[in-house]
Amino acid sequence: MAAASFIQQGKKIVAIGRNYGEHAKELNNAIPKEPIIFLKPTTSYLASGGNVEIPNGVVAHYEVELGVVVSKRGRNISESDAESYIAGYALAVDMTARNVQEEIKAKRLPWTIAKGFDTFTPISAYVPKDAVADAANLGLTLKVNGTVQQDGNTKDMLFPVPRLIQHISTIMTLEEGDLILTGTPSGVGPVVPGDKVACTLTDSTGKLLATLDFNAVQREGGYLYKPE
Ligand code: MG
Repeated sequence: MAAASFIQQGKKIVAIGRNYGEHAKELNNAIPKEPIIFLKPTTSYLASGGNVEIPNGVVAHYEVELGVVVSKRGRNISESDAESYIAGYALAVDMTARNVQEEIKAKRLPWTIAKGFDTFTPISAYVPKDAVADAANLGLTLKVNGTVQQDGNTKDMLFPVPRLIQHISTIMTLEEGDLILTGTPSGVGPVVPGDKVACTLTDSTGKLLATLDFNAVQREGGYLYKPE
């Protein structure tokens, strides 16, 4: 497969929680000792320009993140070998049903519902690795209705990309076209139907590497969240 078709052909999305200290703090979470991982279904992908469908009763938060596209199959990958398992990158938003997640966390249950809704992973076009000089110094911004809400840099990750690849691959085999969502900087917040979200990924010289836009709409039918 061509890495650029990871959205159609990749088998999994491995996401990282609390990978920026300021974001962990804003949700009153402890700084993790090792990466926190969870899975999102590939059916949650939404191409740029589409509609994020917010289920009834759900408070949906945006989380802008750097995505890493895996180049080849690997298991027990060392940090020093990790670079060769990177095909390229993408800009993504890890949409999260925050009120559902808060209830799930309190009950110590899996996060799957909060993260797994259809359309909850808006994703940019593929960015080949050779377009990115240093993945550990990329700017991530997210605007809601023209107002900047997130403005972070990948240099502030608690666990850098090679460490994430090493850790994940000790648990599950990474395969070509898999996407790693590397966590969000601070500034997360809600979107409501009618909101327009616009994100950018830039390098340290200010060069624009990717953009991502979507609209928030109300989902018709399907899941209904009823708080306890
Ligand atoms: Mg996230």
